[in-house]
Amino acid sequence: MPIASINPNDGKTIKTFESLTESQIDEKLQLATETFRSYRHTTFAERESMLMRAAEILETEKHEFARVMTLEMGKPIKGAIGEAEKCALVCRYYAENAKHQLADVVVETNASKSYVCFQPLGPVLAVMPWNFPFWQVFRFAAPALMAGNVGVLKHASNVPQCALVIEDIFRRAGFPKGAFQTLLVASEAVQRILEDPRIVAATLTGSEPAGRSVAGIAGKQIKKTVLELGGSDPFIVMPSADLSEAVTTAVKARTINNGQSCIAAKRFIVAAEIYDEFEHRFVAEMKSLRLGNPLEESTDIGPLATEQILKDVDEQVKTSVAAGAIILTGGNKLDRPGNFFEPTVLVNVPMDSPASCEEIFGPVAMLFRVKDIDEAIALGNATSFGLGAAAWTNDANEQKRFAAELEAGSVFINGMVASDPRLPFGGIKNSGYGRELSEFGIREFVNIKTVWMK
Ligand code: NAP
Repeated sequence: MPIASINPNDGKTIKTFESLTESQIDEKLQLATETFRSYRHTTFAERESMLMRAAEILETEKHEFARVMTLEMGKPIKGAIGEAEKCALVCRYYAENAKHQLADVVVETNASKSYVCFQPLGPVLAVMPWNFPFWQVFRFAAPALMAGNVGVLKHASNVPQCALVIEDIFRRAGFPKGAFQTLLVASEAVQRILEDPRIVAATLTGSEPAGRSVAGIAGKQIKKTVLELGGSDPFIVMPSADLSEAVTTAVKARTINNGQSCIAAKRFIVAAEIYDEFEHRFVAEMKSLRLGNPLEESTDIGPLATEQILKDVDEQVKTSVAAGAIILTGGNKLDRPGNFFEPTVLVNVPMDSPASCEEIFGPVAMLFRVKDIDEAIALGNATSFGLGAAAWTNDANEQKRFAAELEAGSVFINGMVASDPRLPFGGIKNSGYGRELSEFGIREFVNIKTVWMK
């Protein structure tokens, strides 16, 4: 796939880029290794001031950064501004907390002194997706840099400008040149980079096939990986829930980022007593969303990021309908330039159809009617993914059961699944392993070293 910025709103190419040559890749990996030798000895205070500076740049120039994101991958501009702000937040969070999170932990044993310390590993490869083109990178880079590692980014091929802008932010914030580098390469180059002994670990946020491939290569090399993969999150609504709030949140949870979020609610599982009312209101709210140019503040849903994603979503919906699913609204590509797909609601979705088994990365919701909480939990867990789950109920016993029994990396009660720098983020099952964010995330790429003194 060529490395190109193509505006998904009109299909026009903004800019194309040459992939790095073998010798350019080599130079960058060498720079990363050399930088790590000195960077690992910088103090927390030094790293903190650079990361705080990165946060300031993100906040001051959030409108410019948002425009780059929106032009390159089509997210509505208000979401893009929020994304730049959230990147500033994660930088501040780790700048302020890393020192404490990575402080030595003294453990009483039979030694005169024994303790655990956390040391950086070295250059970490980050393979990142286009859907939150800033946030995914910053949530890796902020803790990695605070821990004393250096980062090498292979961003998705459709967001090269975002990748270069992010590299520039770290440079302007004062980080040494080799502390964070962007490698403009296609995914075929990942194997060679990951097999290079100068790369010590990798993190991948992306699809399940990409995760399997990177984990396989890293496994052979005995290199640590963190995988943040896809999801098919359930959004369960029980009779005691506040229905209007649940419906409005459900629509947002499915359509945020034009429906292209790993933690978007994708399957709506509703108790029979309130199902008809939920369906009626949900369809009405989906129909009322404004599709259009993502640069306009009033737009709710912009184009899908690439023509291929539009084709995939269209195909998944058509195949599911052929298998028996019924369309309540939407279901089609828009007859206009750009990668637009109508907000869509499906019911009667067969369990073996693509809508049910695969992740649909677009504004397509599925509704299911269940008779009780047992059926809700069973259906919620009937997926190969396990990223997030939301459950709406005001019954304390039901809340406890959902928290305990839903198979996911996070369960949100009476809210939509969202990431927060203070809370760990990640999945189980085919959604991946390892955690990002919080004190757990910063300990993924460190040597947890035991020191024992007689
Ligand atoms: P993708 O096709 O897997 O791409 C993600 C990254 O992996 C890109 O940089 C891509 O490079 C690279 N890549 C693709 N195939 C690869 C391979 N075989 N070996 C090495 N690298 C490879 O995913 P996407 O379409 O960009 O993103 C959507 C997916 O990401 C969805 O499944 C979504 O749920 C998931 N996601 C998960 C999270 C999470 O936190 N769990 C967050 C966001 C997104 P190229 O662009 O050059 O192909």
